[in-house]
Amino acid sequence: MSTQPSVTRMEKIVSLCKRRGLIFQSSEIYGGLNGFWDYGPLGAELKRNVKELWWKSMTRLREDIVGLEATIIMHPDIWKASGHVDTFSDPMSTCRACKKLVRSDQVWDMLETVPWAETIRSLCPEGKADVDGLLKWAKNKGLRLVPDLALVKDPEGVLATLAKRSSEATSVQATFEILSTAAAEGPLSTPCPHCGGELTEPRPFNLMFKTYVGPAATEDDIAYLRPETAQAIFVQFKNVLETSRVKVPFGICQIGKAFRNEVTPRNFTFRSREFEQMELEFFIKPDEVIEAQHGKTASLSDGAASTDPQPNWGWEVWHMYWVEERFRWYDSIGLKRSSLEEYWQKPDELAHYARATVDILYKFPFGTQELEGIAARGNFDLSQHQKFSGKSMEYFDQEANVKYVPHVIEPSAGVDRLILALICEAYEEEEVTDDKGQKEVRTVLHFHPRVAPIKVGIFPLLKNRPELVQKAVEIRDLLRQHMNVFYDETGAIGRRYRRQDEAGTPFCVTVDFDSIGENGPELQDTVTLRHRDSMTQERVRIADLLPFLQSQIL
Ligand code: ATP
Repeated sequence: MSTQPSVTRMEKIVSLCKRRGLIFQSSEIYGGLNGFWDYGPLGAELKRNVKELWWKSMTRLREDIVGLEATIIMHPDIWKASGHVDTFSDPMSTCRACKKLVRSDQVWDMLETVPWAETIRSLCPEGKADVDGLLKWAKNKGLRLVPDLALVKDPEGVLATLAKRSSEATSVQATFEILSTAAAEGPLSTPCPHCGGELTEPRPFNLMFKTYVGPAATEDDIAYLRPETAQAIFVQFKNVLETSRVKVPFGICQIGKAFRNEVTPRNFTFRSREFEQMELEFFIKPDEVIEAQHGKTASLSDGAASTDPQPNWGWEVWHMYWVEERFRWYDSIGLKRSSLEEYWQKPDELAHYARATVDILYKFPFGTQELEGIAARGNFDLSQHQKFSGKSMEYFDQEANVKYVPHVIEPSAGVDRLILALICEAYEEEEVTDDKGQKEVRTVLHFHPRVAPIKVGIFPLLKNRPELVQKAVEIRDLLRQHMNVFYDETGAIGRRYRRQDEAGTPFCVTVDFDSIGENGPELQDTVTLRHRDSMTQERVRIADLLPFLQSQIL
């Protein structure tokens, strides 16, 4: 990864996404819609590749997982059973000055990224305020940037309060709070990141989008756009069980849209209001059943999770197994373990029903953030649906001769966050020297060939030589049955390579005079194969192209 300042790096990535047709703002010509994003021609291919690779790894390459594709709008009682109607909320505050809404638990994170707050922090190192500097700033720049900040509205008064309450100013944050509070006494305020104004106390805001089913549109017709894909898997558990000949342990997976009315969508596509998830619910036997069958459950200290699944695995080993599987999968698409982090939620962070949750984090330019969560959820979800629907969710285990509600391990990943991580990981500005010895910057996306939107660029050396064009078109037609190819005959070859570097195309093929036998029969039907990352070129036979490319992308 580059060492450029993170903000510039992110800005450059966002601009490349637009320029190259990876990601556009939704409804852009109408001014956009906050928290909604569209994928352009390259982005759509990238996303499709990622989803297909996940689906393949989960279903086609395994005996123990089957797929599901459920509706986005489901019976509203599902969301009562799952707890989403009552508790799926974020704390929200409103700014008394500019009226903007912000997520109360993200205010300080947001203040890390706004320049005016940076100035205040730099004037209060370790909580010790530079009073003269603050006064000057409040009367000049501050007035323009954050007119609603208490310090700006009444510099002398607020600085006098700061002097009086100096015993409370034990940290940068506490000092910042005093500078944001108009009252000389009483509770301190948190400043609005947008204007510095005072924020209201947090109140819960339910994140589900509501709609009405049917024309009457009464309270009784309220339904929700699903905030996660997982619940559909639980409610179809019995149908899948009865129709697929699966036996516990087994999984059901789904890829699909989810919707959350996020209070503050931000960091490009990272926190969107409409996004896609790839979720697996892997159903396992309760530990008591394993113990009754095998005497005891295998433990992590036996190194159990690193072997193939065994009948004596309890939830702990299955959980660890899925954490490892997910890291292996990320590695297979170009996100190495060294770019990721593993975070074990602390007991007080866990949902009340969860036994353990591991988050897989990626080091985004704007901070290290969650890509996927892998939770051991006990049998909470199936039990809740059993209770609310009145339908049994029990499974009869023939081997153990016992009935139970299975427990579940849930690896839940966001497609859009992963796409953003792949783009951030792949992005590089490289200084290279051209044929004439001139230095230039090459912008390149080092996508793994498996996810790359275009797998190979195909170029005739000259577009006004029909024999070259004909051969290049033949190669295009041969390869495009198997993968996404891009045919380009315009501009100098070097420029065509650069265009593909920026699109993340791992290979380019050039048809030249050797290819059509002009320089002797031994080179006829060979082409130049150029590798994006090393920029090396090699001569290969046209007949070898397809097997080579397939070996790289499968
Ligand atoms: P966060 O804490 O970041 O809001 P979460 O823990 O609520 O995320 P989960 O409910 O566990 O997220 O959802 C599983 C996955 O779905 C996340 O790991 C993430 O990849 C993705 N996801 C969740 N919310 C969003 C969103 N608003 N935009 C894009 N992806 C999301």
